[in-house]
Amino acid sequence: AKEKGGNTFQMYFREMNHRSLEQLNLENQLRKALDKNEITLFYQPLVDLQTGSITGMEALVRWKHPQGMISPADFIPLAEETGLILPIGNWVLRESCIQNKKWQDAGYPDLTVSVNISVNQFHQPGFVKYVQQTLTETGLDPHRLCLEITENVAMKNVTYIMDTMNKLKQMGVQISIDDFGTGYSSLSYLKRFDVDTLKIDQSFIRELSGDEDNMAIVTALIAMSKQLKIKTLAEGVETQDQLNFLIEQGCDGIQGFIFSRPVPPEQFEELMRSQHHL
Ligand code: C2E
Ligand code: CA
Ligand code: CA
Ligand code: CA
Repeated sequence: AKEKGGNTFQMYFREMNHRSLEQLNLENQLRKALDKNEITLFYQPLVDLQTGSITGMEALVRWKHPQGMISPADFIPLAEETGLILPIGNWVLRESCIQNKKWQDAGYPDLTVSVNISVNQFHQPGFVKYVQQTLTETGLDPHRLCLEITENVAMKNVTYIMDTMNKLKQMGVQISIDDFGTGYSSLSYLKRFDVDTLKIDQSFIRELSGDEDNMAIVTALIAMSKQLKIKTLAEGVETQDQLNFLIEQGCDGIQGFIFSRPVPPEQFEELMRSQHHL
């Protein structure tokens, strides 16, 4: 039995070494990815359900690795563990502002760009200053920038978060709570923090049809947000049934494959142009 245990132990270690080597390799590559211009942004339209028009877009990061595109679900966690999320996140924010400023100047002054901000980034000293500086340098109207933070951001230091959010709001920047319903926040946060939009997590939307619990949750979230004067945006909308349900409930906006997948900037421009001709 002892020998068997030893073998298992050794195997465990071998596997662990193997994994951490792989991780180290990927980490080194990610470290260089920014300089090598392998990190890029795709944009997914956000659509207003009252007007049916595009009101903005979420910037979603992509890693164009020489061996193929790597999804953020695979490298953002690594970036967070290694601290690389700070340079990557700062680059994403800056690039999003530059791009949206271009679109403003190209005749779409109402578009708002939404940028994902990780917990570490939000808690980075000087974050508000960096946002301010980025807006000044890129010339983007602060009202045309929205920061998406998850509920878990609010778990740390409530005073710091309130202070940071207030400063951002005073600048005119909008704030969305991302993946709402999956984190640990209490509903009272919504009252305390002045958020503009609540993004209903796609897990509730995906199983809407026929799932009475999810239907009840989505209905309640929309009704509650209306009372609190917070906008609702449903993520991951793929089917007409889901769309109909959300319209019926008075959801303000959607994002999902039913309208468009995340696309490179040139394709987003095409979407805007075809919309204008409608
Ligand atoms: P998220 O912020 O919740 O972004 C929405 C994700 O849902 C995107 O995945 C998008 O492609 C996907 N999606 C949108 N509509 C649909 C739909 O109808 N069906 C399905 N199945 N999926 C849909 P993506 O681009 O792979 O990003 C995954 C996650 O990676 C994001 O989730 C976000 O948490 C993180 N992420 C992406 N870009 C950034 C970034 O610049 N910074 C940070 N910190 N995180 C990012
Ligand atoms: Ca998001
Ligand atoms: Ca989300
Ligand atoms: Ca409000």
